[in-house]
Amino acid sequence: MDKDMPKLGFGAMRLPYKGSESNIDLDHVKKMVDLFLDSGFKYFDTAYVYHNGKSEIALKDTLVKRHPRGSYWIATKMPMWSVRKAEDLDRIFNDQLKKLGVDYIDYYLLHAMDSGREDTAIKTKAYEFAERIKREGKARFVGFSFHDSADVLERILKDHPRVDFVQLQINYSDVKEGSAGKLYDLAIKHNKPIIIMEPVKGGSLAKLDKDAEAVLKAARPNDSMASWALRYCASLAGVYTTLSGMSNLQQVEDNIKTFKNFEPLTKAEEELIDRALRAGKGPAVPCTACRYCLETCPKDIAIPDVFAVYNQFKRSDDREAAVSAYEAIPEGRRAWDCITCGACVEHCPQGIKIPEELAEAAKIFA
Ligand code: SF4
Ligand code: SF4
Repeated sequence: MDKDMPKLGFGAMRLPYKGSESNIDLDHVKKMVDLFLDSGFKYFDTAYVYHNGKSEIALKDTLVKRHPRGSYWIATKMPMWSVRKAEDLDRIFNDQLKKLGVDYIDYYLLHAMDSGREDTAIKTKAYEFAERIKREGKARFVGFSFHDSADVLERILKDHPRVDFVQLQINYSDVKEGSAGKLYDLAIKHNKPIIIMEPVKGGSLAKLDKDAEAVLKAARPNDSMASWALRYCASLAGVYTTLSGMSNLQQVEDNIKTFKNFEPLTKAEEELIDRALRAGKGPAVPCTACRYCLETCPKDIAIPDVFAVYNQFKRSDDREAAVSAYEAIPEGRRAWDCITCGACVEHCPQGIKIPEELAEAAKIFA
């Protein structure tokens, strides 16, 4: 892994656009990219599917064509849900090189690994593919992003010790109120460098309810709520970079302000985050993200992810940020895709009436 990795990475999943998500505002992105690079940062994270397949092309137009290749690093991801046979891996990867206009990728990931995609990866020899593109000089480092339980992460890390890094969804809310801390501990146990995604939880930690915000504002009046979330993540040992999905120049500026002269979170500040969480509204649904319910769901509904976003909305009343986080949940796995079969309910150790709560969430995000 690059030892000189700046602590902030540019997530290209929520770029500014005009009208439709596919119509990325390239002039605006150019300004964001230039400011980011000029400020000493260089890690850009995209994926085959972001912006309906247009994010990689946007990076070619705004970054690759306009800056020397050695001045930035690109991370992109193989959409494992689109891989049916081994040949798909080469076909998609070659398409990505073309879309990005590069002949190698700095950080290449198998995207959104979970138990089912691990089976696909084994069947299609995706880890062998990752090692091969590394040997061939087409990828400098290979890893995977992950969305499943600690048991599954442990299995993947044990079975594939040669991956260079892992990308995990970690933020103070998911660590302190969910089970993200277990994932972090496992990555540390297996000595894997960590790249953090969703440090601001889809934007929902950028706006807290007024009581929670008051606790943090009293300590650092000039700091945004997003900066607290980012500093929490970037202060964790073993974290190489923290990705922020930036949507406008103002967010780039705010992030640069946080990271330019980075101040690690102090113990006292972490206690303030705990206080802020206690001062804010508690979760509407007491889901701990254990994911036991997922085992039996015939529709593969992203139950804990929906509840996490729903809880954030209830806490912050910021519908826009919550909708943005909700839309990051893959289509077909959202609250309104539940067929109310009830198969999940008996598996929930918290006794949550899952279909009813999903129906409430669906009303909010409809
Ligand atoms: S009730 Fe909904 S969430 Fe629960 S198992 Fe059935 S489809 Fe899945
Ligand atoms: S089983 Fe219950 S607590 Fe666990 S993730 Fe599912 S809804 Fe949340």
